[in-house]
Amino acid sequence: MKINIAIDGPSAAGKSTIADRLAETLGYTHLDTGAMYRAVALNAIRKGIALDDEEKIVSMIADMELQMPADGRVILEGEDVSQAIRANEISMGASDVSKLQGCRAALVEMQQRICKDGGYILDGRDIGTVVLKDAPVKIFMVASPEARAERRVRQNKQNGLEADYETILEDIKKRDYQDTHREHSPLTKAEDAIEIDTSYMSIQEVHDAVLKIVKEKTGE
Ligand code: C5P
Repeated sequence: MKINIAIDGPSAAGKSTIADRLAETLGYTHLDTGAMYRAVALNAIRKGIALDDEEKIVSMIADMELQMPADGRVILEGEDVSQAIRANEISMGASDVSKLQGCRAALVEMQQRICKDGGYILDGRDIGTVVLKDAPVKIFMVASPEARAERRVRQNKQNGLEADYETILEDIKKRDYQDTHREHSPLTKAEDAIEIDTSYMSIQEVHDAVLKIVKEKTGE
């Protein structure tokens, strides 16, 4: 039977990369919930809506056409915005809109609907604590801010995005603070989540560690 797997942790801890790899190994689908907050921020900026205007953002989400196909692309109003949502400005914007309870409620509802039949790996900040409270496998992935900044620099260079180490480190620390101190669903480890510090681990090592946990829990 296919279960749902929750992966939480701060930005650039390796959640998305591991979720992708694991989805491939298990034949599951990866749902990147951070990309959904990013799409909301991008859409709001494009429409000139202030990122703290909860009422307007909630009604914008109600009309917003967002598709998250299994291949990992993010389609907003028919346009492929997979790259556009990765800009630094949108990272901070996503953190801003994610503070709004109305925005969270709408996206959590979408996420729960998408994965209701199992077979999904969700990565985010509130998956183990809110979206998939009953998930049999919950991973909390952490890494030092420096290790995370280095990874983001490499990733951004590959994607032709802003890649200044100091700027990215600063941004990571600022988002960490904002994501752990917000009023609604702050980033915290679920009581039953297993913590993995990926600072000194390769992608393969993290993948294998999580796969072992999944196999233990599912008995496969
Ligand atoms: O994971 P990613 O860095 O793409 O997420 C962008 C922002 O969206 C995070 O900094 C966080 O504020 C927010 N987010 C959230 N809950 C999630 C996923 C992301 O609040 N489940």
